[in-house]
Amino acid sequence: MSSLKMEELNWVDIKQAINNGFKTVVIGVGSTEQHGPHLPTQTDALTAEVIANLVARKLKNALQAQTIRVGCSDHHLSFPGTISLKKSTLQAIIYDYIDSLQKHGFENIVFIPTHGGNFNPLQKAVDKAKKKYPDIKIVAYTDLLGYVDTQNKIASDFKITVEEAGAHAGEVETSQILSLAENLVNRERFQPGFLGVLGEEEIEMLFENGMPSLTEIGVIGDPTKASKEKGKIYIEKIAVFLTKEIKKQL
Ligand SMILES: [Zn+2]
Repeated sequence: MSSLKMEELNWVDIKQAINNGFKTVVIGVGSTEQHGPHLPTQTDALTAEVIANLVARKLKNALQAQTIRVGCSDHHLSFPGTISLKKSTLQAIIYDYIDSLQKHGFENIVFIPTHGGNFNPLQKAVDKAKKKYPDIKIVAYTDLLGYVDTQNKIASDFKITVEEAGAHAGEVETSQILSLAENLVNRERFQPGFLGVLGEEEIEMLFENGMPSLTEIGVIGDPTKASKEKGKIYIEKIAVFLTKEIKKQL
């Protein structure tokens, strides 16, 4: 097959693939939101697309469905370009994806979120959908701390601190986008954002009062040490980690 992406295939090839054992479908769940003065608003949608594709390859016998490119980003809405879905809207989209895809013979439906705000509503939707379709496996990796910890561990191999790696548009995400779409990154605007400890109190403040309560430029972390080479490694290692975690659920 020329591609695992169903949006690039026709229904005849898709039907044949499913009949030949491609019983898993993977869907990235990203966001459209500000990522500092230097990264494009499609940052999380782009990483979702690429990481979901890698996970589909690594799972084997899997196709990829169209990435959900908008997510729950209320805390970024004071920055222009951010488009946010209500949790119930995202969940409605998830249900409609599942209702559609289960008709075609997929036995495993896998969601890969790359944006923190989607983890919780996505897991709730998956739990509800599992009850509706007990005969198929509907899974997602939604352990936000596990996801962030994994990124931080990879970053520490490069001597990047947790604060620099950052939860938003810091070293990790900036490296990732440098490796995926360098032309969309504005290097002249690299500057550190919030570099304090991101504890429970800060996270609560962030979700209640929005990003500007922590950082006026919309950056948590420090992009100045980012590089394309590291970005490739981040993406590959995160995909390996997620594949392992998803396999445990299948
Ligand atoms: Zn992001």
